Amino acid sequence: MSYTIQGKSIIGYSRSGGGGSTSSAVNPASGQKLDPEFHAPSESEVEQAVLLAERAFPVFSSMSGKKRAGFLRAIAAEIESAVDQIAERGPLETGLPEARMRGETARTTGQLRMFADLIEEGSWVDARIEHAQPDRAPLPKPDLRSMQRPLGPVAVFCASNFPLAFSVAGGDTAAALAAGCPVLVKAHSSHPGIAEIVGDCVVRAAQATDMPEGVFSLLYGSGRDVGMSLVKHPVVQAVGFTGSRSGGLALMDAAANRPQPIPVYAEMSSVNPVVLMPKAVDARGEALAEGLFGSLTLGAGQFCTNPGLVFLPDGHGEAFLAKLKELIEVAPSAVMLNSGICQAFKDATESFGETEGVETVAHAFTKQVEERAVPVVFSVNVRRFLEEARLHGEMFGPGTLIVRGSMDEIEATIPELEGQLTATVHGTEEEIAERPGLIGALERRAGRLIFNGFPTGVEVCPSMVHGGPFPSTSDGRSTSVGTMAIHRFCRPVAWQGFPAAALPEELRDGNPLGIQRMVDGEFAR
Ligand code: NAP
Repeated sequence: MSYTIQGKSIIGYSRSGGGGSTSSAVNPASGQKLDPEFHAPSESEVEQAVLLAERAFPVFSSMSGKKRAGFLRAIAAEIESAVDQIAERGPLETGLPEARMRGETARTTGQLRMFADLIEEGSWVDARIEHAQPDRAPLPKPDLRSMQRPLGPVAVFCASNFPLAFSVAGGDTAAALAAGCPVLVKAHSSHPGIAEIVGDCVVRAAQATDMPEGVFSLLYGSGRDVGMSLVKHPVVQAVGFTGSRSGGLALMDAAANRPQPIPVYAEMSSVNPVVLMPKAVDARGEALAEGLFGSLTLGAGQFCTNPGLVFLPDGHGEAFLAKLKELIEVAPSAVMLNSGICQAFKDATESFGETEGVETVAHAFTKQVEERAVPVVFSVNVRRFLEEARLHGEMFGPGTLIVRGSMDEIEATIPELEGQLTATVHGTEEEIAERPGLIGALERRAGRLIFNGFPTGVEVCPSMVHGGPFPSTSDGRSTSVGTMAIHRFCRPVAWQGFPAAALPEELRDGNPLGIQRMVDGEFAR
């Protein structure tokens, strides 16, 4: 279905009249502005969006899982019908290829349907029932029943590096809607057109499935202005964010300093360490170089799971390094998502390259360097790495740092790393069995451990954990990918001594929904 981008925020079921500042998308490949202009909403329009969300909450949160699942499935179908338009506009706004747009669209719709399945089945609410024991001595036991309930309206900040799967109808939005929370999306200035195409899909789906107005709004404007006003608004009860560490910290700070502090689920920075063990690197040096190269340069290195740090044991890895150098030197440069991200990558690689003790292992010999990322690999010994805090930071783009030392030194360095989304080990089964301390240290530092694989390519499935200790995320107890993400937007509520008719169906005797529950300490369906 074709749709003309209007450049206006979506406030419930209406279009904003504008009134705030204007901005344009810029084609990062050419530097040209793209039509149309996008208008930030006025303060009163932001207020209107928030109040509509608050009004929608009681209706939306008390709907059956089946009905909300119908809404999520309708969003997925609408987005599928807009895929050609997304595939046309997406590359212009992001520099990402059309195939990536189509692939990410499929991931986004798959994610929405995964949450639809989850809430249709219903057991995710973790229903627990303890029947009363009026005759218990010395005190009677009350009837107590609990389950997860939605928090309230949620603000979601779109990510620059995933214009679909972590944006308007991406993981946080899907998880929040599945939980029963209305969503207020702050669009990313890098891809406002895709945001509107998808936002319009969500609105059409909401209207077609009789959702209350305000279940979704999409707002343009700056983060410091429109974004902050959402985070600080007393109606908003949680925040989802993917982006820079400074942006995430600013939102965490604002949320913590509200009269009523609220949770912020911010995904910020991660260098995703990869440990190469001696036998693996001796046996598979070239294949490891090819795998690392593919993971490092995928999407111009603009993935939160980009392998930005590789530990290589002294005395090993000749073939690995030779192959990596060969691949990097002929690698093309790549258009990045926007000029700010491209400049940040250039600054980071310059800073790494100028650091005492850091050597350049390989640098792409490309002529196209203006406004593009040039793949690069550095190396440093483990002692210098430990001394230089800046070498622990993210180079967001196709760059990585190889740290060399003995296996004992490498193991001792892991606890000094910051929190990570992922940690990878390449070794034999015997090698990892010999180093339980290394695996234990990696577990304390990361949300997902990978054996003989690479960290990019985050499977969307119920057991995925895409989260990790600070600063990879603001709250390592949760994930932004997979069905567990629904728990970000819920809290447990208990009902004590309530009559059956006043209880949610999930908690009634007889289990009318047929869900998995814990009844008097035993799991039952
Ligand atoms: P960003 O600058 O943090 O922006 C993300 C969103 O947050 C935007 O909507 C932005 O609003 C808003 N924002 C930023 N700072 C804010 C503040 N102080 N107060 C309120 N809102 C704020 O991230 P980005 O544009 O995606 O990329 C910048 C850098 O972030 C990259 O170079 C990279 O280093 C890092 N990054 C990391 C990941 C990861 O997953 N690890 C992903 C993406 C980016 P505006 O529209 O006003 O800018």
